[in-house]
Amino acid sequence: MNTDTIAAIATPLGTGGISIVKISGLDALAAAARIFKPANARRRLANTPSQTMIYGHIHDPASGALVDEVLVTVLRGPHSFTGENVVEINCHGGPEVTSAVLDLLLRSGLRHADPGEFTRRAFMNGRIDLTQVEGTIDLIQAKTRRAARLGSQMIASGLGNEIKRLLTIVRELRVWVEADIDFVEDITDEPAAPAIRMRVAEELIPPVEQLVRHYHDGRIIRRGMRVVLVGKPNVGKSSLMNRLLVRDRVIVTDVPGTTRDTIEEQMAIEGIPLVVCDTAGIRHSRDPIERMGQKKTQEAIEKADLLLFMIDASQPIDDLDRELWKSLDERPRLVLRNKSDLIQDVGQRSTLDEPPEGGYLDISALSGEGLERLKSRLLRAAGIDTRAEAQACLPNRRHRDLLIRSLAALGGITAQPHDDEQLETMAIDLMDCERCLNQILGVDVTPDVLDDIFKRFCIGK
Ligand code: GDP
Repeated sequence: MNTDTIAAIATPLGTGGISIVKISGLDALAAAARIFKPANARRRLANTPSQTMIYGHIHDPASGALVDEVLVTVLRGPHSFTGENVVEINCHGGPEVTSAVLDLLLRSGLRHADPGEFTRRAFMNGRIDLTQVEGTIDLIQAKTRRAARLGSQMIASGLGNEIKRLLTIVRELRVWVEADIDFVEDITDEPAAPAIRMRVAEELIPPVEQLVRHYHDGRIIRRGMRVVLVGKPNVGKSSLMNRLLVRDRVIVTDVPGTTRDTIEEQMAIEGIPLVVCDTAGIRHSRDPIERMGQKKTQEAIEKADLLLFMIDASQPIDDLDRELWKSLDERPRLVLRNKSDLIQDVGQRSTLDEPPEGGYLDISALSGEGLERLKSRLLRAAGIDTRAEAQACLPNRRHRDLLIRSLAALGGITAQPHDDEQLETMAIDLMDCERCLNQILGVDVTPDVLDDIFKRFCIGK
């Protein structure tokens, strides 16, 4: 780990109330003192107590020229975000003045921080674990309030605490197994293996399985649910998409086959981001562009969390409808019967050969009828477990992969025959499980995993 002193602008480079230039490292106070003069001449940065702000001015040490009027915050390690000495210079919020302050620091020998380097130092110095680092990314990149809340809860150790709780049990069992292996001759109590196996089955496997299940919720809150509109040309897919987005993003015409490509838009219903994708209505065509659009449609269908299959209520079902419907077999789907405004009598609206499982959702993309019902069905289909969300135990993909590996190790323990000869393999399985859970917190993860996470940060964080 680098321990030199680093500096960067921590706020977005634009005009605003204030901008903050952040310094972290052993030399932070001395570096700031070279360019900062407290307004009260008796004060010195070097003996300023931690968590204190001082008012003063930044000067160019070479020319003596005044650069800015600032407030400087002093945070001494180890009780700072990075665990090192930190100085934050609150400048006026203009890009030129802020860069001028940073340039003075870099000229005096500090290094410009890499993206996420402040947070990386906080992690390396044990100030935060890796789930908290990932929570910070979630928070900064949140597209909805709900996703932001998930980030805040991860930073507050929602997931980290649950992993630590599980680790305590794993360690306790491992100590027990190892003691049993070492002193097997002296032990006259009940054999350890069946009791350990029972605790693994009752206390470890169910919560780990539950966390794995919650990956789905976390993914939807962080990234959104992919909803894909499928239907033959002219049933009204683009019109619905425009309705949902409340603006004209997709060209609507009555010439079949206008939407040749897939079009993606982001929206949110009650804080659940949705990626709505309007597909090229599949038509048998020789037009190479249209065929390419159809290939993209297939890809979109495969990636979808939910398919909205649309038929035209005013037209009898034809072979193309049937073919499309069949191609969606086994996928989570809702059947939308559009243009219901054209056929007032529900009994007269067109139907599929077999009634769909969840029935028809009658809508009119033209009049907006049925849209509220559609939105609540979309939310229900997202299937978020709000209790898990409140506890912020929503793993991301990296966590899920490690949880699955922990489960494999735990499964190895419960699958063993009931005798004490298996204690050695039990100890190995518990060690594997411990290693995986530890990696969720960031213990013994490889540098490339860390690089992968920290490169998602911006400079100054
Ligand atoms: P797509 O090819 O499936 O995307 O269909 P479009 O959205 O381009 O719509 C095809 C035609 O149907 C256009 O003329 C729309 O105005 C019309 N249309 C779409 N939805 C409705 C609806 O709910 N009611 C009526 N009456 N017409 C609609």
